[in-house]
Amino acid sequence: MSDTLISYNPATGEPVGEVPVTPAAEIPAIVARAHEARRAWGARTAQERAEILKPAGAVLVERADELGSLLTSEMGKPLSDGIGEVKHTGEGLPAEADEIARAVTPRTLTGEGVTTELRYDPLGVAGAITPWNFPILMPHWMVLPALIAGNAVVLKPSEQTPLIAQAYADVLNQFLPEGVLQTVHGEDDQGKALVAADVNLIAFTGSKDTGRKIMAAAADGLKRLILELGSKDPLIVLDGADLDAAVAFAARNCFRNCGQVCVSTERVYVQDTIAEDFTARLVDAARQICPGDPTGDACSMGPMAMPAQKAHVLAQIEDAVRRGATLRLGGGSLDGNYVQPTVLTGVTHDMDIMQTETFGPVAPIMAFKDADEAVTLANDSEYGLGAVVFGPEELAHEIARRIDAGMIGVNRGIHGAPGSPWVGAKHSGIGYHMGPEGHRQFCQVRTISRNA
Ligand code: NAD
Repeated sequence: MSDTLISYNPATGEPVGEVPVTPAAEIPAIVARAHEARRAWGARTAQERAEILKPAGAVLVERADELGSLLTSEMGKPLSDGIGEVKHTGEGLPAEADEIARAVTPRTLTGEGVTTELRYDPLGVAGAITPWNFPILMPHWMVLPALIAGNAVVLKPSEQTPLIAQAYADVLNQFLPEGVLQTVHGEDDQGKALVAADVNLIAFTGSKDTGRKIMAAAADGLKRLILELGSKDPLIVLDGADLDAAVAFAARNCFRNCGQVCVSTERVYVQDTIAEDFTARLVDAARQICPGDPTGDACSMGPMAMPAQKAHVLAQIEDAVRRGATLRLGGGSLDGNYVQPTVLTGVTHDMDIMQTETFGPVAPIMAFKDADEAVTLANDSEYGLGAVVFGPEELAHEIARRIDAGMIGVNRGIHGAPGSPWVGAKHSGIGYHMGPEGHRQFCQVRTISRNA
């Protein structure tokens, strides 16, 4: 690999900028610096650390237009989404900082003759390895709790989106003591070197295959792991569902961010009695989506983030059609990195498109007869991040309880009430983010007991 990592705009193919690649051999020294810096940082209280970081939220909000534009030029999502991601990150930061501080503040437990101090101490140095699809939010989900829990962090962002991740770290570093948050740039080799270095925890969000490699590499040192991996989320639509709401949900959740979302709807199961009606309506809705220049007003869908992603999506569509699926909309390549919004019917579970993560703008629809069949089909996946059921409330809720996924929405998306963790089942992950349980994974839990 060369000395610089060039970031390309997926909409134009033009370079956006570059960062120096961190030589893998230097990463142990960077981690050693993080250990130095974390001593004073970890000695403060969690609330003090939260107060130090809170002003970073306002800076992100102030700079949302500029940073959102950088995000879009590196990753390709529509500009309003790019700006929205930065704003959302900044606006939520102060309240999240307080929530994390509360979760990791020591507590006292009492019993007969004994008082126990339950402590959530820093682990040491956390390595954070992140993907490109939410290139500021994914680093933020790890970096903020790791820091407020008193750790130092070495962030290795995706090689596809190094500039926006660096900009995020630079904003936090306006407020942090030196060495507490460092970034390293590069591809697999830098990720491997970070996992191999003297880190106490690896927080990883990315693909299942990389997650597996990281787990194997972390085994030697028995390093703690948080793995947020891929998925193949199902949507079940039952007879009696509010079809307008179900179609609106599918139209958004199959195509948002060009399908490059870990909780995208990647499999659609519709009861046979309403399958044709649902399909016709979804095709109409998907026809309104216009792929184009993500900075242009008319565009509602940008390009795929990289050529390899486009090739993968088109190969899955071709394979499905070759095996008997029917193209109801799209299915084709557009110039550059663009793929048409696609609706397929007649798909089956022996097609790759119903098994392997697509990460593209495709809605593959399969009809089912009854609730048992819907549950069996939804659970026939190695993944289990999110799932959504639309239908009569009680029946939909009952089905939701039978689905092997971490986050399930009934007549709504998967996002829960404040405090809900972000959690995957099966091969979609190990551990979780957010909520007190999520924040405490960045801590060494300890008890100190004495006679009362
Ligand atoms: P990826 O696994 O290819 O890469 C993720 C990161 O790992 C990158 O920074 C990469 O450089 C690094 N890496 C690659 N090989 C490594 C190795 N051997 N050791 C250490 N680090 C290594 O994933 P991606 O293509 O960047 O992201 C897309 C994937 O992320 C999808 O599968 C998506 O579902 C998943 N994702 C999951 C969630 C979630 O919350 N579960 C959220 C967003 C994205």
